[in-house]
Amino acid sequence: MRYKDKHQLAAEWQALLERTPVALRQAVETLVDAHGTHLADHFYSVMLDDPHASLFLSNDQVQQRLHPSMRRWLSAMFAVEHADFVSLVEQQEKVGQVHARIDIPVNLVLNGARQLKQALYKKINETFNASLSPGDASVYVSDHIDMAMEIMSHAYSVASDRHARTEEAYRLFSLTQNIGDERERQRAALLNWENALMFAIAAQQATSALPRLTSSEFGLWYFHKACHAFDGAPEITTISQHIQRIDEEWLTQLSHQHNEMRLAALGHIRDAARTILMMLDDILNRASGLDAGRDSLTSLLNRKFLPVVLNREIELSRSSEKCFALLMVDIDHFKSINDTHGHDAGDSVLQQVASILDRSTRGGDYVFRMGGEEFLIVLVDTDENGSRLFAERLRQTVAKESMLATADTLLNITVSIGVTLHDGHPDYQRTIQRADQALYQAKRSGRDQVVVAACAE
Ligand code: GH3
Ligand code: MG
Ligand code: MG
Repeated sequence: MRYKDKHQLAAEWQALLERTPVALRQAVETLVDAHGTHLADHFYSVMLDDPHASLFLSNDQVQQRLHPSMRRWLSAMFAVEHADFVSLVEQQEKVGQVHARIDIPVNLVLNGARQLKQALYKKINETFNASLSPGDASVYVSDHIDMAMEIMSHAYSVASDRHARTEEAYRLFSLTQNIGDERERQRAALLNWENALMFAIAAQQATSALPRLTSSEFGLWYFHKACHAFDGAPEITTISQHIQRIDEEWLTQLSHQHNEMRLAALGHIRDAARTILMMLDDILNRASGLDAGRDSLTSLLNRKFLPVVLNREIELSRSSEKCFALLMVDIDHFKSINDTHGHDAGDSVLQQVASILDRSTRGGDYVFRMGGEEFLIVLVDTDENGSRLFAERLRQTVAKESMLATADTLLNITVSIGVTLHDGHPDYQRTIQRADQALYQAKRSGRDQVVVAACAE
């Protein structure tokens, strides 16, 4: 079942708030504004006492940023005038997504909410008199925070499901040698079902006794494994529709009184089975070869696995004190290569640059194609000096090597590189942004150079 959409949530939230008189909400707003700092302090001191929570919060920058953002969140939540409830909903969704990205356990978030409520109840009881019912104010605060938590948790679970699926795909990708076997096995299983069906028809079995594709060996594999493993692949929807039509529509038409209807149904089944095989081949080909986790032009890693790799590296660096660096590499004036020598020449240059990146890195490093002519290197087990030297050497290697653009054209190209070190912050997106900004700086300062971003804000 689909979860409520933004507008439904916004309407529900507004209705919830409007149950409380404006005067009371106004008093809570004043209280939150007056004690915002105290509330945020309380929240973090309780959370930092929890060894599990402090893993996520002990980073200096997290503390520097989270404290004001908690205060902002509080005053946005308890403002009496909400100009736009949809954007209030969106804010909670965003928070839930960040929690999922950095993998904060949901129980910690709920514990945080509980701490906050208790601190608020205490302040309400201390400051509200009989004319401003402390009981009603507490119910209002509680409903309000619960609503935010509901939306956050939903966004969290959607994002972390997606995250889990990517992890799964990554595992599948690293087990690629088995996909060839799987393809043969499932091909045979589908053909077996077709044969069994033909025999059953020849033996004039009743429609109800005809083998259903859904419950065949192939169907079981498809619904239990393939759908899950290849979730999101466009072919999956089409294959599922074909299986459904075979079982629910065409198999029953096989007992139609008119011969031509029966023949037509048989034709449909045969065509659908061919389509299923073809699409399955496409999915498995993508999964088996370079395409599943690698970019097809350059054979570098596909950026969809970047979150998996970075979260793992962040976790490793937490436990080992070793650091990793991100290098954002972008080819300079690449568009003019396409414009002057054609798209194929551009492709050829991309492949050669990718090959240099691949050759220059060590076994534990990762090279991603981020898209277009932009690459990201995850340089493991390094420090600021090490990553700067590496980037500088890489820049020189690219500049020195002549690239074969067409059969008789050699080109010299350059790259700009933005470098940054992981600084312990649990959200990898911030590190990527810093590398991006350093790259932008390198471009602005004339290209063909390395810029190292400082870690501190
Ligand atoms: P800058 O130095 O500022 O990075 O300039 P640029 O020309 O390298 O960057 P810009 O972003 O303006 O152009 C990138 C070009 O890369 C535009 C796009 O057509 C081309 N491109 C993206 N992907 C591919 C690809 O797979 N093959 C080829 N041949 N070209 C591509
Ligand atoms: Mg470029
Ligand atoms: Mg670019």
